[in-house]
Amino acid sequence: MSSPLPDPIARLPGEWEEALAAWGEPRFRAAQVFQWIHARGVLDPEAMTNLPKRLRARLAEEGLAPPLALTARHRAEDGTQKLLFALGDGRTIESVLIPQGASGVEDPIGGEEPEPGARPSTQCISTQVGCAMGCVFCASGMAGLKRHLGAGEIVAQVLAGRALVGEGERLRNLVLMGMGEPLHNYDAVARALRLFFHPEGIGLGTRRVTLSTSGLVPEIDRLARDFGGKVQLAISLHVPDDARRSELMPINRRYPLATLMDALRRYPLPPRRRITIEYTLVRGYNDALWDADALARLLHGLRVKVNLIPMNPVPDNPLGPPGWPVVEAFHDRLWERGVATFVRRKKGDDIAAACGQLALANEPKKIRVPLPVVAGG
Ligand code: SAH
Ligand code: SF4
Repeated sequence: MSSPLPDPIARLPGEWEEALAAWGEPRFRAAQVFQWIHARGVLDPEAMTNLPKRLRARLAEEGLAPPLALTARHRAEDGTQKLLFALGDGRTIESVLIPQGASGVEDPIGGEEPEPGARPSTQCISTQVGCAMGCVFCASGMAGLKRHLGAGEIVAQVLAGRALVGEGERLRNLVLMGMGEPLHNYDAVARALRLFFHPEGIGLGTRRVTLSTSGLVPEIDRLARDFGGKVQLAISLHVPDDARRSELMPINRRYPLATLMDALRRYPLPPRRRITIEYTLVRGYNDALWDADALARLLHGLRVKVNLIPMNPVPDNPLGPPGWPVVEAFHDRLWERGVATFVRRKKGDDIAAACGQLALANEPKKIRVPLPVVAGG
């Protein structure tokens, strides 16, 4: 016997063929069921009108139901929407929809003619409830890992998000930058990626999906092997030396910068693409001009661009963003050193900006690592 099939919503077409064969259904039904779920976002078997009645009944028995429910939807003035979902076990996760133009995350393809009649939007999705990595500036890190999300829960955020984009918008890009470390939940995330890319399903194009990681080196290599550079990589770097990076991001003790940089050099980057380096500016901690110099040296020879993100304040966390002149000076210094650098504008401020904060408002917090001593202010 082969391994048990995943939850219905997380099944790939071949797995539907297997399930349907076991029920005595013809092969071609697999594509129909898959399309209903992933291309059309229909999870109610009764609405799958081209399927015979007995198959619809069987699907209902199988428990083809959304694994999450929308519990809150906040819309900011710029069109950004924050979505809060309840999972089957009552935990909550969040996701953000960002229309292009309002975007703090630029269109990864960039410079493209807008599609006639549809403004592209980007969805930021979660991959875990909380996070085990313990980065000290991050709300998810402060909460600790509650649990991994299943592939079905990851995909269901996108099925819901696609239906909730504003009028005249179309979901075009995904960023795995919500709660959680995607590469710590590799199997579920890889399955979700296959579902996102599948042409009979959601059908996102190559390089339309950006995965952000704090730097789990073996899994970066695995992603390269499994997807061959199809996934756009974003690395949360944040500090250009090991001693302070380990303080801010405990994962650095396991995969220090030299090891991480080697993994980036190995990543099979398609022509004309760059790896995104995320750099959260924390006041008085990593925002000095010599940090910019050290960052430029570290990145020398790599095809990268830097996104500077002034830290979003997190409740019960003493760290915060530097003032605007410091951000500008840091940005300018990187350009002077030849590094393409962009400041990610904070969007949706009036709905509690950073990914990770809304859903955690009702989770108990646990500070897992001592906060670094911050000089100045
Ligand atoms: N775990 C992954 C993806 C989720 S976090 C990662 O760390 O890359 C997405 C991005 O938000 C990361 O770059 C993370 O460092 C950043 N981030 C987390 N908390 C933040 C905060 N309070 N202010 C600004 N950026 C933050
Ligand atoms: Fe986890 Fe990313 Fe937050 Fe670090 S920044 S704790 S890896 S979610």
